[in-house]
Amino acid sequence: MCQWCVEHGDGKKWYLNTRNYITKELFDSKEEIRTAADMLLRDSERMFGIDMKKGFPLLDKPIIGRIVGRSVRKTIEKRERGQVIPVEEAKSILNNANMAALVSCVCRQSQLGITKAKYCLPFTYLADYGKEWPDCSKGGINYISIEEAKEAVEKAAHRGFVISVYGFPVPFVGGLCMCEYPSCMALKSRLDYGMDYLIRKSEFVASHDIDKCVGCGKCVGKCQFRAILLSRTLEKALFNIKECFGCGVCIYACEQNAISLVPRQQVPAVREEW
Ligand code: SF4
Ligand code: SF4
Ligand code: SF4
Repeated sequence: MCQWCVEHGDGKKWYLNTRNYITKELFDSKEEIRTAADMLLRDSERMFGIDMKKGFPLLDKPIIGRIVGRSVRKTIEKRERGQVIPVEEAKSILNNANMAALVSCVCRQSQLGITKAKYCLPFTYLADYGKEWPDCSKGGINYISIEEAKEAVEKAAHRGFVISVYGFPVPFVGGLCMCEYPSCMALKSRLDYGMDYLIRKSEFVASHDIDKCVGCGKCVGKCQFRAILLSRTLEKALFNIKECFGCGVCIYACEQNAISLVPRQQVPAVREEW
C-alpha cells in the first residue's frame, strides 16, 4: 500500500475508506476541501490561479517552464492530487457513493476547446455542490445513478481512457476522472514535466503471460504510459513494469487474456514506485 493508504486508509486503501468521503458535514467543516473544490470546479478554466489555456503551454519553454513548474509545485503540493485506478477499484469506490454526476472535462475544455466531453465524475456531496459551479456546468451537469456511473467508467476504460480518483485534497475522496494523454493536464504534467506529485501510480501493475501472447500488438497503442513495446523478433509484447501505471486499460485490448493486474506490493521491482 502507498503512503496515502498507510496514513489515511485505516487498514484499507485510502480511497476505499468511507471516512474520507466528502459529506456535507466534512465539506462545511474543512476549509481545504472548499478551497480545492472551488479552485478546480467553480473556476474551471483556471487552475491554481493559472489560465490553463495560455499558462499550460508555457511549461514547454525551457526556462519559463521551470519557473512556472516550481510555482505550480508550490501551490499544488498540498492540494488536490490523484491516483490512477483500475476499473474494478472505481466501481468499488462508487459502491460507497450515494450520488454521482458527469460534468465537462476541464482539461479537454481548455486544451482542445471541447465543452461537451463529460469525463469528470464527482460523487457524494461534491456532485451536489456541482449545482453551484457556473463555469464547470457550461456543458451542463448530468446527474446519473451509481449504476450509470459504473457503466461510464467501464465504457471509458474500453475506449482506452485512464481512470483516476482525486482527493480534494487527499485524503478527501471526491471524484473520478477519465483521461487521455496529452490533453489531461495531470497525466501530461507527470509524463512530460516530471510532476510526480500530481498523479500517482495505481496499487497494481500489469502482469503479462508471455506464453499466451501471440504478438498481435493490440495492447501497445492502448498504453498511455509507453510501457509496452512489440518485439518483432520475439513476436511478443514486452512490458516495462517500471513505466506501468497499473491502469488496466491494455487488458481490454488483449483477446488472448494474456494481461492481468497484480498488486504492486507483490512485485519487488516496483513495490516502491509510485
Ligand atoms: S483529469 Fe481527466 S477527466 Fe478530469 S478534467 Fe483532466 S482530463 Fe478531464
Ligand atoms: S501496461 Fe497496461 S496497465 Fe500498465 S500502464 Fe500500460 S495500459 Fe496501463
Ligand atoms: S494484445 Fe495480448 S496477445 Fe496481443 S501483443 Fe498484447 S499481450 Fe500479446
